[in-house]
Amino acid sequence: MHYFSYQHGELHCEGVPLSRIADEVGTPVYVYSRQTLVRHCRVFREAFAGIPHTICFAVKANSNLSVLRTIAGEGIGADIVSGGELFRALKAGIDPAMIVYAGVGKQSHEIARALEIGIKMFNVESRGEMDVIQQVAKSLGKVAPIAIRVNPNVDAGTHPYISTGLRQNKFGIGIEGVMDDYQYAHGLSHVEVVGVHCHIGSQLTDIQPFVDALQIIRQLVLDLREQGIVLRYLDMGGGLGIRYNAETPPSPEELARAIRPIVADLGCELIFEPGRVLVGNAGIFLTRVIYTKSNYERKFIVVDGAMNDLARPSLYGSYHDILPADEAAGRQGTALADVVGPICETGDFFARERSVAPFAAGDLMALMSAGAYGFTMSSNYNSRPRVAEVMVDGDTYRVVRRRETFDDLVRLEEEV
Ligand SMILES: *Cc1c(COP(=O)(O)O)cnc(C)c1O
Repeated sequence: MHYFSYQHGELHCEGVPLSRIADEVGTPVYVYSRQTLVRHCRVFREAFAGIPHTICFAVKANSNLSVLRTIAGEGIGADIVSGGELFRALKAGIDPAMIVYAGVGKQSHEIARALEIGIKMFNVESRGEMDVIQQVAKSLGKVAPIAIRVNPNVDAGTHPYISTGLRQNKFGIGIEGVMDDYQYAHGLSHVEVVGVHCHIGSQLTDIQPFVDALQIIRQLVLDLREQGIVLRYLDMGGGLGIRYNAETPPSPEELARAIRPIVADLGCELIFEPGRVLVGNAGIFLTRVIYTKSNYERKFIVVDGAMNDLARPSLYGSYHDILPADEAAGRQGTALADVVGPICETGDFFARERSVAPFAAGDLMALMSAGAYGFTMSSNYNSRPRVAEVMVDGDTYRVVRRRETFDDLVRLEEEV
């Protein structure tokens, strides 16, 4: 559910017409709905109310400081994957005790910073990383709380690029040998084994892979306990999908219902790392049509946004609903068209052979469900300044990241 809807014939975000934002801030622009964001945080939190848990928002889904601050205001922490995300999370006021840190390539300077500020735990992805954490912790006179990220070899049934729990994926430590790794970590002087972590993929639309993975993790927790290693935290990762098109992902309540019996008697605090499900439908990408053209039999709608601004369609072939800002335009039938950007790549498209409203030059177009993995994946390719981000709250909005200028593009360069 979200607060983007037609009112008086115009697509609004909450109480603000998108055309007003386009006129005042320009296009392309990301528009976030604060009320949607808050609502998603509450729905998620309430679903797991009966289970001792911490929610850590996956910062990579949307790392805008105002988004992070809004989420933090709902009592949610952060799941980070880099020193840069740690920096952002702290800047947004997120409590270090509610930060978990995953990623296969953590470097010693990043680990040192996380130890200094005292994060909740490191989700460790290899034996080599364990050794580096031990070394860094020792040199700082600290003890590092760690969970081992287990790769349970479970198929998340999602796009191959965002499946992370299969044996051929780079993530985690294979379930078969992980007992040894736990024993090894347990023997390290400056490491405290506190948990187990598992994140099998993103945009999961079925509950079964979660259940399968959790059952494997449950057995591991019990086996470890027999060996005298008692875990405090069971981190289930993120991955809950959203509706982009015709998907019917489970709700947080359905997920809670499925997992409650599996974890009820373990005595572990659960950690959830939702990303997409909190922010995905809370944001849209607003772009303006520059030209329409036909080549042979194909019709193209050329917009001012491009793959550098919103990479998901190019990267994963993913679907975003396309709506005209002007409702009347949507009633004039449909046309089969490719929606493309100005970038010099054939891969620069938002939709191909899609039935859309008959857009004309100057029309405003909203790409829906763009709040997750939208701006965070953007780049300056083709020397395109990165777009502005706007947050709407009721009848008002704020620019929460200004549009980059041409000067911004070259600011860090030296002419030699
Ligand atoms: C990306 C990621 C998440 C969030 O995934 P979503 O599908 O956005 O919920 C959670 N945990 C880890 C370790 C991740 O890499």
